[in-house]
Amino acid sequence: MDLFEYQGKQYFSRFGIPVSPGGVAETVDEAVAAADAAGYPCVVKAQVKVGGRGKAGGIKRAASSEEARTHAAAILGMDIKGHVVRRVWVERASDIAREYYASFTLDRANKVHLGMLSAEGGVEIEHVAETNPDAIAKLAIDPVRGLDLGTARRWVAEASLDPAAREQTAVILCDLYRCYVEGDCDLAEINPLVLTSTGTVHALDAKVTLDDNAAFRHPEWAEYAATETEDPREKMAKERGLTYIGLEGTVGIIANGAGLAMSTLDVVNQAGGSAANFLDIGGGANADVMAAALEVINADASVRSIFVNIFGGITKVDEVAQGILDALGRVDIKAPIVLRLDGTNAAAGRALLAPHLSDRLVAETTMLDAAARAVALAGS
Ligand code: GDP
Ligand code: MG
Repeated sequence: MDLFEYQGKQYFSRFGIPVSPGGVAETVDEAVAAADAAGYPCVVKAQVKVGGRGKAGGIKRAASSEEARTHAAAILGMDIKGHVVRRVWVERASDIAREYYASFTLDRANKVHLGMLSAEGGVEIEHVAETNPDAIAKLAIDPVRGLDLGTARRWVAEASLDPAAREQTAVILCDLYRCYVEGDCDLAEINPLVLTSTGTVHALDAKVTLDDNAAFRHPEWAEYAATETEDPREKMAKERGLTYIGLEGTVGIIANGAGLAMSTLDVVNQAGGSAANFLDIGGGANADVMAAALEVINADASVRSIFVNIFGGITKVDEVAQGILDALGRVDIKAPIVLRLDGTNAAAGRALLAPHLSDRLVAETTMLDAAARAVALAGS
């Protein structure tokens, strides 16, 4: 789960990472009240879970109540890269001398935590990463040993941070690392981490992705989930107990097992198409599960064909076939369906389906043929 900036800053505060005081607002009047409380000049910041808000006009400085009102009115309701602004965060403006970048994330390949630190932070960090990767000092952290202050001190020196910022930043990096580990984050990023003209260092932005697998030990995350603006397809799938991720393509996918679902995305791509979703229906592919899966995919207007890819292991293919037939009787499916059923009792399953096959319900024997057929039917 991604957090909004204001939630990320609250999260940072718990671990002692300094942020500017401010308040969150959902209306123009609330924003003006938050601005008055923060003091002037202040900044009014769009709260959307997408980067580049500054460049999109979602961050504005206000010198007075009147300006705060004008900016809040302009920013609330604004569309930033498809995300509608429902809230603004208003904080006291910082007088910035330098902008740095700091983050922690997991480096799966090397089985370590990866810290990244740069003296060239700010809105152009992606450009820096591409054109001048040496400007980003990377630190591999052994998860058992963690990050100590001595290592953080060497790291800030290596990253050539301004001497005035080094000691404060080293402490902040240790706190950010604790936030990342103890706070169960997949990503904890500060961009920019600023050095102000008066010589203090604090986080001006917060990008935090929580590891949903750790939700069971964080009851306090419930408040973040409540504000989450979810993909309506994902919400519907979650309500039906399915593991579903919405994507941009036109071929709806149903598979059993995460590995097979991933491979199914690959073969659809290989066949020249693109998947509308990832959907793992898990082990038990009975009629209820199949009907729920078809319902979710059916609700997605961009789906042009549906590829059902099932490998029967413990799940028997004839039971899956019966589940599909029952589900088809219950849900009025808009797109044609391509089936590839293999594994335990495959012959019995195919025999069950044979009388029902048509140009709307097609069977193929191999995964690649089925993918090609689904892509052709999607017209992509
Ligand atoms: P993002 O564009 O979504 O990453 O939003 P940020 O919160 O990182 O803000 C983008 C940029 O706006 C920062 O890099 C700063 O240059 C500028 N900015 C944001 N807050 C302040 C502030 O309090 N004072 C000043 N001077 N600039 C700010
Ligand atoms: Mg930023």
